Amino acid sequence: MFDKILIANRGEIALRVIRAAREMGIKSVAVHSTADADAMHVRMADESVCIGPARGTDSYLSIPAIISACEITGAQAIHPGYGFLSENANFVQIVQDHDLTFIGPTAEHIRVMGDKISAKDTMKRLGVPCVPGSDGGVPTLEDAKRIGEDVGYPVIIKATAGGGGKGMKVAQTAADMESAFQTARAEGKSNFGNDEVYIEKYLTTPRHIEIQVFGDGKGKAVHLGERDCSLQRRHQKVFEEAPGPSIDPETRAKIGKICADAVANINYIGAGTIEFLYENGEFYFIEMNTRLQVEHPVTEAIFGQDLVREQIRVASGMDMSFTQDDLEINGHAIEVRINAEKLPNFAPCPGKITQYHAPGGLGVRMDSALYDGYSIPPYYDSLIGKLIVHGRDRPEALARLARALGELIVDGVDTTVPLFHALLADPDVHSGNYNIHWLEHWLEHNLN
Ligand code: ADP
Repeated sequence: MFDKILIANRGEIALRVIRAAREMGIKSVAVHSTADADAMHVRMADESVCIGPARGTDSYLSIPAIISACEITGAQAIHPGYGFLSENANFVQIVQDHDLTFIGPTAEHIRVMGDKISAKDTMKRLGVPCVPGSDGGVPTLEDAKRIGEDVGYPVIIKATAGGGGKGMKVAQTAADMESAFQTARAEGKSNFGNDEVYIEKYLTTPRHIEIQVFGDGKGKAVHLGERDCSLQRRHQKVFEEAPGPSIDPETRAKIGKICADAVANINYIGAGTIEFLYENGEFYFIEMNTRLQVEHPVTEAIFGQDLVREQIRVASGMDMSFTQDDLEINGHAIEVRINAEKLPNFAPCPGKITQYHAPGGLGVRMDSALYDGYSIPPYYDSLIGKLIVHGRDRPEALARLARALGELIVDGVDTTVPLFHALLADPDVHSGNYNIHWLEHWLEHNLN
């Protein structure tokens, strides 16, 4: 096992990893930009190193600065968290070239899954059901039009390098194809440096269901059920839960096994998420994330497992501490993402926190790097906390969420908390009766 690990991230996820390391008796090294000198992850780690100026590209994305920080502190392994360098295959290769361990999958798996076309090809080959669409990349507008007719409108044009909801455009009819095709290509080029796009059937009423998988890198893998992340704004998740209200045990066992077998087959190591759209009882693969996800705590809650501890274990060469038979679902968990944003437009709202009080009590977990007097810098993601509740069933989890949100105090900046109060008053949220488009429609009629 490692003696010391470095966390190449900030905010709540850096704290999450520091906590797991401490419980395992492993020393932690925080890295930070000049803007984050007073951040909670710096205070909580055993050591810290300043790696550059405020802008992410000059600090949290600076590979030489992070490798140097490992060398200076003697850290043997790097946990990337999510975002930043977590899905950068080049970084993983450089980490290995410096005889350090990357706590995550291999560079090869990150590369294959990071390109959505090669990810889809691989998953198809491994027996995972995919959305109907083009066979690989679509080079010209003429090809796009032909495929649009073959697949049937509406279709979605997606940048193969896309992520975070960018580089996707819907063509409702053939008349929309030209502008959707060109926009998706342009967004792929400007955001990800790659203008290759592919086409999928656009599903009109799906839920977003994702399967958590975990592999030991030696051919063994398990699944930890699903998360339903259907409540989305601009293709970004805001409310996640496990288990999914629409998934029964047989369906879970079946799709879970397909996913676990697929990642076992490629000797996948560590945590991964296979994302699907789920419509009329059918699963359609959309992408795989080769990292820990923001919403991992809902899975931890219902399985009683520490996924970060498990990541560190397998990265050090140990076996997984559980088998599929050990994994049993207990109750229901919900996470809401609390962002420093001003409603109704969700404009980022950095600034000084004048008062912070985290909720507590039975079944409540608040993952946040906030504290009284902390100034949220304007340079990074607007996520400032995740509130996770766990109950014996879904109604209890919803009641607990309302109770915990009522206790939470974040003064000094606007947050998305009022959105969740409003959502909890909606009957559809209580019945679980929604798909990925529900929240966008709801927002048009509420909060304005
Ligand atoms: P990203 O990498 O940007 O997160 P994804 O491929 O995971 O992109 O898709 C994100 C979201 O976009 C999905 O959760 C879903 O809401 C929507 N989406 C993606 N593909 C389709 C599709 N074929 N039909 C309908 N919606 C889609």
